[in-house]
Amino acid sequence: MTMIPKSHPRRESLMLRERLVEGFADGVVAPQGLIAHGRGEMFYYVLGERTTKEARIAARAAAAALLTASHPVISVNGNVAALCPVEVVSLSQLVPARIEIGLFHRSDERITRIQAILEGHGAEEVLGFLPDERIPGLDGPRAMCSEEGIHSADLVLVALEDGDRAKALVDMGKKVVAVDLNPLSRTARNATITVVDEVTSAFAEIAYCAEELKGDDAGIRRALERYDRDDNLSAIMALMAANLTTGLPLP
Ligand code: ATP
Ligand code: MG
Repeated sequence: MTMIPKSHPRRESLMLRERLVEGFADGVVAPQGLIAHGRGEMFYYVLGERTTKEARIAARAAAAALLTASHPVISVNGNVAALCPVEVVSLSQLVPARIEIGLFHRSDERITRIQAILEGHGAEEVLGFLPDERIPGLDGPRAMCSEEGIHSADLVLVALEDGDRAKALVDMGKKVVAVDLNPLSRTARNATITVVDEVTSAFAEIAYCAEELKGDDAGIRRALERYDRDDNLSAIMALMAANLTTGLPLP
């Protein structure tokens, strides 16, 4: 791993990049995953590399939706496993929600590695290695899923997800919670709830809210009422546009 000086003003972003490069070297992250991360970094930069108020509102609604779902599943890919396995496992235990590995560029080897990482962080059951169902409307290996996981879920939490797959899950009648730094993406615009934030922060914030909202039915209701996807995405796009017009303070 490259040493990132503690004093570097953009240390956190560079550390995330290092985690991804390490995940790539370990066969966890697909080469395409590195490119997807670069796109995410760009949107994060334009946001000022911080969690916005809108992202907090969305994360709170996401936590409320997870807590009220009867069969929630967290879909994990290589980037997510490399970036925030601790946050994934703790959120899954807190809600609780099942974990299923879903890969766009599917290989048994990569699934095995991702599964080992999640189990190494305490996940008791990770689905996805033996898919026995398909997501209707998708072709190829990205349609594969497991019956007891994503296929029968009423809510799926996806992060850094392909737009087609997110839409296909919505078309199945599921609630979809998406974490995606691109407010313009098809994933962001098709999901039921979209958290526009860096995935590590988003998962941590959703878990924090879930802990707070657990057992608080009125709080859960308020969190869901307060969130409107299109308003939320518009506010974030306006923020990005303003940052691109007036510039950000230099880090
Ligand atoms: P879509 O198909 O949804 O229109 P896309 O094809 O651009 O969008 P992909 O490349 O399939 O999307 O998925 C990657 C998405 O994840 C991108 O929108 C990117 O901005 C986002 N992303 C990448 N890294 C992160 C990260 N660390 N945290 C949150 N989002 C990220
Ligand atoms: Mg795509």
